[in-house]
Amino acid sequence: MTSPGNGIGAKPKRRRGSRGGRRHKKATAANAEPQAAEPIAPAAKPQAELETKPKRRRGGQRGKKATADAGPSRVTARPPLTTTRARTPVTGAPTEDVPAPFAHPAEYEFARILDFYGITWQYEPRSFPLRWEQGHVTEAFTPDFYLPDLNMYVEITTLKTGLTAEKNRKMRLLKQLHPEVNIKLLKKRDYLRLLSKYGYGPLAPEQVPEIDRVLIPVTKLQRRVGELGALISHDYAGKEPVLIGILRGVICFMSDLMRSISIPAAAVDFMSVSSYEGNGSGAVRILKDLDENIKGRDVILVEDIVDTGMTLNHILEYLQSKRPASLRVCTLLDKQARRIANVPLDYIGFEIPDEFVVGYGLDFRQRFRNLPFIAVLKHDLLP
Ligand code: 5GP
Repeated sequence: MTSPGNGIGAKPKRRRGSRGGRRHKKATAANAEPQAAEPIAPAAKPQAELETKPKRRRGGQRGKKATADAGPSRVTARPPLTTTRARTPVTGAPTEDVPAPFAHPAEYEFARILDFYGITWQYEPRSFPLRWEQGHVTEAFTPDFYLPDLNMYVEITTLKTGLTAEKNRKMRLLKQLHPEVNIKLLKKRDYLRLLSKYGYGPLAPEQVPEIDRVLIPVTKLQRRVGELGALISHDYAGKEPVLIGILRGVICFMSDLMRSISIPAAAVDFMSVSSYEGNGSGAVRILKDLDENIKGRDVILVEDIVDTGMTLNHILEYLQSKRPASLRVCTLLDKQARRIANVPLDYIGFEIPDEFVVGYGLDFRQRFRNLPFIAVLKHDLLP
């Protein structure tokens, strides 16, 4: 896998969010920066261990070894790892879910494609020396995969084209010094094409030109939804709340939230309303009413986003008229800067700036709902 300045990848430092925050605690937009910006230090390894890449393999083809000639000398030392590397989950897959030995979600996904098609593979089975000083190897290159049946090495790069100069230099050196080695560089564009061809991985930001930037990446969304589920489970211990989602933007949030609630939910129900548009009627229109009777029950209204608060205000009035035992609101996103109606928000996922966002259920003209992250739409697309 690509690591800037060093082709020999170190395992990423895995980051975990703190669980069990407090009710009303908000994750702010500052918290919601893409994880790609976070540099992650490589794990230190004693030089003695660095002779070759670890031989751990996954998949059904364990035990086979690469047979290509190692070249003028075996790799005896790895150059010191001096640079940190930024981790970018290309497909939006959470980095935490990448199993050993893979250092990057792209490698894991590639291995799954190979497995699916029964193509034998080995992960980083060997290193090729590229430079020597006083008899010691000072630079080496370890391709990500070896496919024995094709006698082919594959190196995946998910860096932008402009950042692949170092990788290209190593590839050129490798071909000069080890001309017998058959190696293919799978560039980011080709890799994304391959993924979509085989139906792997959710949409990556690079595939959606209408997006200005990712505001909340998948990992942060999942972590925060888990925290909200834990809070609700704690607050409603011994009760069986009814969850009511407002269609359609809430679909992803509701589906993840309800599965992270660890107490029994009495029911899950949905309403659909026409958004408040200040049309003078003073009300939102109910397009789909509740199926459940909520009288005397503990109700949690689940919303995707609260903007001016006018729509929510009307829905809350309507639900209160049904005389539930209690009524609380859980919203994934809170665009507080635009608030007009003073609505009570009991559980808030993220406070976000005054931007039009899409993804994770939220749409623009019915598009973008299936993005696995929350992104800001390019301004020039808005009316
Ligand atoms: P409010 O009545 O609070 O002004 O608006 C609520 C509704 O407007 C939301 O349920 C949502 O459908 C829509 N909305 C407000 N802000 C956004 C946004 O940034 N993105 C999307 N996709 N919908 C939004």
